[in-house]
Amino acid sequence: MDCLFCKIINGDIPSSKVYEDDTVFAFRDIEPQAPVHILIIPKIHIKSAAEITPENSSVVAHIFEVAAKIAESEGLTDGYRIVNNCGDSAGQTVKHLHFHLMGGREFTWPAG
Ligand code: 5GP
Ligand code: ZN
Repeated sequence: MDCLFCKIINGDIPSSKVYEDDTVFAFRDIEPQAPVHILIIPKIHIKSAAEITPENSSVVAHIFEVAAKIAESEGLTDGYRIVNNCGDSAGQTVKHLHFHLMGGREFTWPAG
């Protein structure tokens, strides 16, 4: 399968790995939008949040557990933002489900 993030999980494309276990992989975004900008992804290929089903949703709960651990280890005690872009109009550029964990600066709402 020609998927950038599957290649990163497999090690075919190098990445700055932050965390890995049996079902989840986390690495630093190549174009960070905040001092801490980490992508947390399932090892199974799920195209987007629109493809979450009763069969695969447990990995999403686990991703949020991992996000809390990573935020703590990155020292994000003041808070952080977790973002998922789902589909083209939301700006999803890589079609492998991923959550952006960002921190280390102030964020505006609803964007930026
Ligand atoms: P999206 O726009 O789909 O929500 O997020 C995709 C993210 O993947 C972007 O923030 C982009 O900077 C990041 N990205 C794209 N290609 C690579 C890459 O080869 N390595 C890493 N570490 N991040 C990437
Ligand atoms: Zn993939």
